[in-house]
Amino acid sequence: MFSQAAQSLGYRVHVYEPSGPSPAGAVADRETVAAYGDLAALGEFARSVEVATYEFENIPVEPLEAIAKLVGLHPAPGVLRTCQNRWREKAWLRENGFPHAPYEEALEGDIGAAAARLGLPCVVKTADFGYDGKGQMRIASGEDLTRAAAIFRGRRCVVEKWVDFDREISVICARTASGETRPFPASENIHANHILDISIVPARIAPAVAEEARRLAVEIAGRLGVVGLVAVEMFLGRDGRLIVNELAPRPHNSGHWSIDGGETSQFEQHVRAVCGLPLGPSGARNPTVMVNILGDLWTRRAGAAPGEPDWAAVLSEPRAKLHLYGKPEPRPGRKMGHFTVQGSDLEETLALARAIKARL
Ligand code: AMP
Repeated sequence: MFSQAAQSLGYRVHVYEPSGPSPAGAVADRETVAAYGDLAALGEFARSVEVATYEFENIPVEPLEAIAKLVGLHPAPGVLRTCQNRWREKAWLRENGFPHAPYEEALEGDIGAAAARLGLPCVVKTADFGYDGKGQMRIASGEDLTRAAAIFRGRRCVVEKWVDFDREISVICARTASGETRPFPASENIHANHILDISIVPARIAPAVAEEARRLAVEIAGRLGVVGLVAVEMFLGRDGRLIVNELAPRPHNSGHWSIDGGETSQFEQHVRAVCGLPLGPSGARNPTVMVNILGDLWTRRAGAAPGEPDWAAVLSEPRAKLHLYGKPEPRPGRKMGHFTVQGSDLEETLALARAIKARL
């Protein structure tokens, strides 16, 4: 999606990807398949481009540092370093005075003591390489604690107080090297099994809260010094307070609505920010609902044989748009694509999106 946005602005795109010919490479002008530790390939890649960026958090920082010595790289590797590890990310939020859930750093042996201090329920998350609910466990009982100690053996974790939230929202903010910032509208995010299921734009929250969420995202983007995008995931507590859950310095799933429903898509905004172009307007053209399509649909469809879903359910609806990512293998929990629905009435649009999803 980044490649397509860059190409429509006249750029050519070179993808670096260690795990073989990729969906991103398939729509890029060039793809290098090489390990993150392959310094020769990294050097050749860096010398072939005018500017480099990344849109995945689970990459080691070292190859980015190698690239940054040779060519402009945005966001700076230090931004990823802060955001990709929950110990560092939480400490950064705390040091910079941003609201976050009470938490403690723990090794597996300390989970019990940390949970006792925080109180149950709480959630244990691995400090490194967790996403989409991977490496996460909710703890509500002593039994859960015993299981968690076994599951997280040998791993650095964060134990976090469970937040009794009213809603989950996110704001994606673009920032240029000259410090211009532009936040997208707040998106309301509904998760299933810790994986994003539905994003609703605009979020169904009081306008003042949406403004406060955007203000927080702008301030975080500036304080991080990000050039590109930062997605700020937040909980809206039942007491009306916003709590920052996670930061992602890249295009974010909760911003996919903007391809069809935004004045400028998050991918185009990312291209603009890292290429030093003026940012585009970031409003929503219409109320928009985005629904993720997971690999589960290939195997677990009520009353249907396993196989590719019948996309007619989406394509026959004039207000819906289908996006499939071309990932080769549908696996449960894997994001294979999404669809959006736009309309003038948000609740009616949400009901239609849910009806289409049920038909898939
Ligand atoms: P994360 O990987 O931190 O984004 O967590 C994935 C999802 O798990 C969140 O979007 C929430 O739905 C849920 N979750 C994570 N942490 C908490 C928490 N402290 N309290 C309540 N729900 C949480």
